[in-house]
Amino acid sequence: MIRRTKIVATLGPSTDKPGTLKKMIAAGLDVVRVNFSHGVAGDHIRRVKEVRECAHELGKEVGVLADLQGPKIRLEKFREGKVFLEEGARFVLDIRCDADDGDINRVGITYKELPNDVKQGDVLLLDDGAIVLSVNGVTDDTIDCEVVVGGQLSNNKGINRQGGGLSAPAITDKDRADIKTAADIEADYIAVSFPRNAGDINEARRLLHEAGGQGGIVAKIERAESLHGIEEIIAASDAIMVARGDLGVEIGDAELPGVQKHLIQLSRSMNRVVITATQMMQSMIENQIPTRAEVFDVANAVLDGTDAVMLSAETATGKYPVKVIEAMARICTGAEKQKVTTISRHRMDSEFQHVDEAIAMATMYAANHLNVKAIAALTESGSTVQWMSRISSSIPIYAMTRHESTRRKVSLYRGVYPMAFYISNGTDYIEVNRSVLNVLREQGVVEVGDLVIITKGDLMGILGTTNVMKIVRVGDY
Ligand code: PGA
Ligand code: MN
Repeated sequence: MIRRTKIVATLGPSTDKPGTLKKMIAAGLDVVRVNFSHGVAGDHIRRVKEVRECAHELGKEVGVLADLQGPKIRLEKFREGKVFLEEGARFVLDIRCDADDGDINRVGITYKELPNDVKQGDVLLLDDGAIVLSVNGVTDDTIDCEVVVGGQLSNNKGINRQGGGLSAPAITDKDRADIKTAADIEADYIAVSFPRNAGDINEARRLLHEAGGQGGIVAKIERAESLHGIEEIIAASDAIMVARGDLGVEIGDAELPGVQKHLIQLSRSMNRVVITATQMMQSMIENQIPTRAEVFDVANAVLDGTDAVMLSAETATGKYPVKVIEAMARICTGAEKQKVTTISRHRMDSEFQHVDEAIAMATMYAANHLNVKAIAALTESGSTVQWMSRISSSIPIYAMTRHESTRRKVSLYRGVYPMAFYISNGTDYIEVNRSVLNVLREQGVVEVGDLVIITKGDLMGILGTTNVMKIVRVGDY
């Protein structure tokens, strides 16, 4: 069985070690995430170049996801680098405090409007909820708090409000500059952090196009309020990320499993791709094997129907960036053996809007009910394989295209495997079938006697014109 669920891994100091990236790709990495919250543009440019070189050497397609920092509200720094807050103590967030002059009584904050957004009685969560403050009073410059849950607090930790609603605009000046970098490095996806609504997604897309970028837009669902207009956000995006870190802080960890299932189901039904992220293999930052709970978490995301599972610190700064990919790949493949992932009633009752969509659905219906070995979709933009991959199946979908950018984009889609395929327009259809089957045979994915479904457009080379589905037997051409 070939793994269908895709693995996204974050690059960082740990993946910079010589030889590591190549081993990660060989172990099954599908998409790399460059995190603009850390490092400078030069780091991302260098890393992406190395990814493409390694992928090329291994003959693999690896997508690039550029993750913007967004308006994460953070504490400034402490004089001593950190403080220990005692439960019951008074602690003030003070916009007048110098950036590196925090102490046990007060600290600066990056977002100077914060006092306007909070009120007495609010609960503020620092460091992903590790420290809890209750707001006693607010002035123009200060937020006066009592420590409800104390502990060690170090520089630049994030601040969230329980229930969400802090109104910093989604796309910062830094993000605007980073979007240009993302366009320059031809990122296949750009992730927008903390979008409030579809307008934020449209704005990011406009900026990306202005910068000459073509990548898909990923909406990171990590604010409580983004759940209200969630359908508009999904519709405006190419993919979403269930960003369980910040989202869990805002809506409470107990709400997360239900929200994850809902978001995955909703994105699939809206023909959008979905990534499940954060702390999936957290203990492998330090350890060589995952906990049982982590095994179940990754497997459950697969059973929920996610396209991809993501690694953050596990690969960026963890001790075992290769082992964690191997473990994740193994768990995904194990979970995919479950029946629920291979049988689909998806879109049974929907009306189709497009011809290529109808062909994609007919293909999956036939493939799932006939002993088909592989689906070969001749595609320009990847739209047909995107429709196909929303349907649960155990049959591999090969996206056969001459466009490298399409091959990298589909590397994120569940059950879809990019393959380079070149054929000139006007080629006789028998010849097309023969070439497709030859490529699949060369790749060792089919043999004589196997059934294959081929989809293509009569007018090859034009976007969105798939209108043919053929069922062919290897060896007959
Ligand atoms: P981050 O986003 O890693 O950029 O914070 C993911 C999350 O919040 O889960
Ligand atoms: Mn986040």
